[in-house]
Order: sequence, then structure tokens, then C-alpha cells
Amino acid sequence: MLSWDQTPSLQPMRCSRAWVEINSLALRHNVQQIKGLLAPHTDLMAVVKADAYGHGAVTVAQVALGAGASWLGVATVPEGIELRAAGIQAPILVMGAVNSREELEAIARWRLQPTLVMPKQALVFSEVLSSLAAARPAGVHLKLDTGMSRLGFPWAEAVEFVRFVRQLPHLRIVSLYSHLATADSADPSIMKQQQQRFTTAVWQLQAEQLRPPRLHLANSAASLSDRSLHYDMVRIGLALYGSYPASHLRSTVDLQTVMQVKARLTHLKDIQPGTGVSYGHQFVADHPMRLGVVGIGYADGVPRSLSNRLQVLVKGQLVRQVGAITMDQLMIDVTSIAGLQEGDIVTLLGQDGDHQITADDWAALGNTISWEILCGFKHRLPRIAIDRPLDLAVSTPYPGDFH
Ligand SMILES: *Cc1c(COP(=O)(O)O)cnc(C)c1O
Repeated sequence: MLSWDQTPSLQPMRCSRAWVEINSLALRHNVQQIKGLLAPHTDLMAVVKADAYGHGAVTVAQVALGAGASWLGVATVPEGIELRAAGIQAPILVMGAVNSREELEAIARWRLQPTLVMPKQALVFSEVLSSLAAARPAGVHLKLDTGMSRLGFPWAEAVEFVRFVRQLPHLRIVSLYSHLATADSADPSIMKQQQQRFTTAVWQLQAEQLRPPRLHLANSAASLSDRSLHYDMVRIGLALYGSYPASHLRSTVDLQTVMQVKARLTHLKDIQPGTGVSYGHQFVADHPMRLGVVGIGYADGVPRSLSNRLQVLVKGQLVRQVGAITMDQLMIDVTSIAGLQEGDIVTLLGQDGDHQITADDWAALGNTISWEILCGFKHRLPRIAIDRPLDLAVSTPYPGDFH
């Protein structure tokens, strides 16, 4: 049993209206599945940015490291500090932009490793380390832009960039990397072009005896689709959490959903035909209905744009959500289910009986991607770490029983 990720003394006070369950067995399984695709020398970096895509960065990092990951990837310096402050010792790569001296100082103090994309950053980091009288050189990772057009030094000028960084004191180049723009597409042509550019840069570096000791290029989609993209490390986010980056990659590994989102029925009411429901009365009953009020809303991570389109699970049955989703609550049509009581559990994402609702289902309804759906749960709901198979986890009791 893993611990809660917030102050223990608040536990008895935790609201019981809604929560997120994080299944550490599923997470461990996913890490092992991905490890199974990798050559022995290829490291697995668990990408835990955005609070591990809404799953809780510290818990996910601990479980992933225990299951075979050896690196952690974050987007920002505070995300890296959170992991170090929790006592995590694994190497941590900050993949996002670091443009201030202050951030570079924090990186040095907390033994994080920055991504450098400009000579200027390297120069400032070298100065920072010198002013801190750093005992050992600090590891840095150089990123090339090979076609994503986001962070990265132009790939064709890699030799110049690496040469510049190498002559600065206190810096040790740990890796050279790049990021793919279309790895989840069924058409590999752009991805192959990016790989070609990356390899060209590496050859040029090699010719000048400047090749960094490690190379990495692959996110989840690339890792699942093509082993030639694995190099010395793969950077895995989405697949850790049990979602497939694209449907054509479903056959590559067996992934299990890590997050389930549950809430309680907080109120039940019978309404007459003609009764409007929620803000704007977007939904009006056309027959006598039993309505369930559920204690979860858009501030918790349920996108308001899915109002009147979501389905949820109650006692193993799919029922529809009706009316505008509000900040903290939403309404469902439970007319077809007998014997419900306030306090009964509603599954928004996850499995109940024979049905499962996934982040992919929501993403398809909302014209977005599963990454964004999962990240929506990073703020407000308490998380419970469970270590039971998914089908048993459904009935997990929650402290502070309602009845
Ligand atoms: C977020 C991120 C990843 C992980 O991507 P997934 O598609 O979630 O696996 C890898 N590399 C970089 C640079 C990233 O920003």
C-alpha cells in the first residue's frame, strides 16, 4: 500500500465526493512491458512532467524506478525539485526551457540536469557553477531541433554547438537528443526524416571526435513503433500511464490503465417532464426522470465541453450525463437503475463490471488527445494509490463513509 501524497493529518477530513485511484500494479506492469521492447543497454526514462500526467509525480517516479526505469524527465525546475525533496536520487532531466540564472542555480543546487538549446544558456550555467564553486562538473543535455520546431539548436549546426559547450568549464555533456513531431502517425516519413537529420548530426560529430556519450530520440509512440529509434534511452510518458499514443500501436505491448476517476452520488431527485437541468437549461426532461447529482466537476478535471455527451458507470451500467457540467458537480440520468442511494459510487474513468471508460473515449468525444484528459486531473482531487488488479479495485472503499 502506498501512502497518500498529501498531509496525513488531513486524511480524516478528506472530501469523499470524488477521488482518483492510481493503480501501482498497472504502472509497474506498463514499465515492464516497455522494458521488454528495449535492448539491454537502452535506458527507460519515466516522463513525470505535469505531476506525472495528473497521476502524482512522486508516487509514479518511485514505482517506475522500482520497476526498471532509471531516469526521470520533467518539464520545469520546480517539478524536478519536488522529486529531489521527496528523496528521489535518480538522474532527473529538465526537458523544458530554462532561461534564467535563478533556474540554473536551482538546477545546480538540486542536482538536476538541464536541457541546453543555446550557447548563451551554456555560458550562464558555466558561470553559475563557477560562482557556486562546484566541486564536480554538472551534467547537461544538448537538444537539437530536427523538425519539431520547438526547443532545440539547429541540427545542421550541431558541431559548432557541441564544440562551444565542450570548451566551457564545469559542464559535462551527458547526452544529445531531439524530439519527434509525428511519431504517433501511421505514416513514418516525417519521423524518418527527423531520424535522418539526427543521424547526420551524429556522424558529423563523430568525425570531429565530438560525439556525446548518449543519444535519445523516442517518446512513447516512437518507442512502440520502431526499435531503430531507441538509441541509448527512450523517454516514455503516455504509455507508462496505460494509454496508447495511437490505435495502430495497440498490438505492440499490453498496457493497463493506471488512473481511475470516481465520485459519489451526493443527491438523488425525481423530476417531471419540462424540468430544465443545470446552468442554461441545456437539457430539459421529456419524461419523468430520476436524476443523480455527482460530486465532481470541471474544476476537478472533467471537461465542461463534454456536457451532455459523457457517459458514466453506475453499478456496472452506462448512463448518460445531462445538462451543463458545473465547476464541482454534474448530473446524470439514473432513471434506469433501481435501488440507488446517496453515497453510491460513480465511475467516470475506469472499469465497473463489463464496461470500461478510457481517457481515449473522452479525447475522441472532446476532439482532443488522451494526454490532455489525464493532465486535467492534476490539481484538485485526492489520490489513492492502490495495488490491486483493476477488476478488484472497482469496489475500493473510501474513508469517510457517506451513509
Ligand atoms: C513529454 C515529452 C516526452 C514524453 O512523450 P509521450 O508521448 O507522453 O511519451 C518525451 N520527450 C519530450 C521532450 C517530452 O517533452
